[in-house]
Amino acid sequence: MKKRILIITTGGTIAMKYDKNFGILPNDELIEMLHSFPQLQDVAEINVCEFTNIPSPYMDPEKMFALGKLVEEKIIDYDGIVITHGTDTLEETAYFLDLMLSTRKPVVLTAAMRSGSELGLDGPRNIVGAVRVASDDITSDRGVLVVMNDDINCARDVVKTNSGKTDAFETPLYGLLGIIDPDKVIFYRERIIKETIKTDQIVTNIDLIKCVSGMGSHHLEASINRNVKAIVLEAFGRGNVPFTILPTIKKALDKNILIVVASRTYTGRVLPEYGYEGGGRYLADMGVILSGDLKGPKMRLKLMLLFGKLKKTELVKSYLLEQNS
Ligand code: ASP
Repeated sequence: MKKRILIITTGGTIAMKYDKNFGILPNDELIEMLHSFPQLQDVAEINVCEFTNIPSPYMDPEKMFALGKLVEEKIIDYDGIVITHGTDTLEETAYFLDLMLSTRKPVVLTAAMRSGSELGLDGPRNIVGAVRVASDDITSDRGVLVVMNDDINCARDVVKTNSGKTDAFETPLYGLLGIIDPDKVIFYRERIIKETIKTDQIVTNIDLIKCVSGMGSHHLEASINRNVKAIVLEAFGRGNVPFTILPTIKKALDKNILIVVASRTYTGRVLPEYGYEGGGRYLADMGVILSGDLKGPKMRLKLMLLFGKLKKTELVKSYLLEQNS
C-alpha cells in the first residue's frame, strides 16, 4: 500500500520563477505542479498544504515554531511529512524542527537552487527524492532530514556551502547520512546526536555576533542595551576572542546575560584550551559557555527553545554545562 505523505510548502526558490523585468520572484505554481506531478503520485499518496510562500530570508524563529506545531498536528494523519523551503535558511528551520519534534515518523526538508524557469531544474527531482525518503520504512526515527541533490543530510550538521550550485548542501566532517539511488534509499550511518527540547514557548531575544579581527564592543553593547537573554559569540578557532572585548563580556555576564562561544571555523569544536586573556579557557573561567561543535546560528536557535522551556539563565547554563561534561 502506498504511504500517505503531506507536503507542506513554505516558499523559496522552489516556488519562484524568473521575470525578465524584476528578477526571480515568488509565484503560485508549485502547489499546482505538486498535484499533477506523475512521478510523485507513483511514489506515495500526496496531500499538499501551504504554510506560507516566502523567500527563506524572511523565515524567523516564530514562523519555525508555528511550522513545528503544524507538523505535530498533521503528522498524526500521515506516514511522513515533506517540507519545501528556501535554501538560504533551510538548515536553521531543519535544526529548529529537529529539536522541537519527537515523532519517529520521517520529516524531510527539501528545496531547489534553480527557480522554475531555469534549465536543468533541481526542484522536481528533489521533491521526488524527499517523498521517496519520507515514504521508506528505513527512514523511521532518524530525526529531521534534509534531502538535496540525491543526498540525505542530518538537520543538526548540514550547511549550505555554496550560493549557486545544485549540490549546495554538505555535512562537513561527519558526512552524509545516506543517498537516494534509482532503486532504493540507502542510509550509511545513524545520526550522532538526538536531542529534543519540548516547550510551549520560545524566547527570541538572543543575538549572534561574529568576531572579526580588530572588532569593537559596539555590537555587544547594543545587545546588552536591548536586554537580550543570551549572546552567541562566533569566536575564532578553538573559541578565542580579542582581549579588547573582555570588559564588555564581563558587563554582559554581570547582567546575567548568558554568553555562549561557538567557533566561526567551518568544522571542529571549541575547547577551554588557551589560557591567555580572551582564550577559550580564560572565557570559560569567566563563566562563558562553550558550544562544542554546534555552529553559532544553530546554537542561537537552541537557546531560544531552551530559554522557552527552562526560563532561568542558571538552568539553561547548567543544561549546557552538563552536555559539555
Ligand atoms: N533566496 C532563496 C530562498 O532561500 C534561495 C533558495 O531558495 O534557494 O528563499
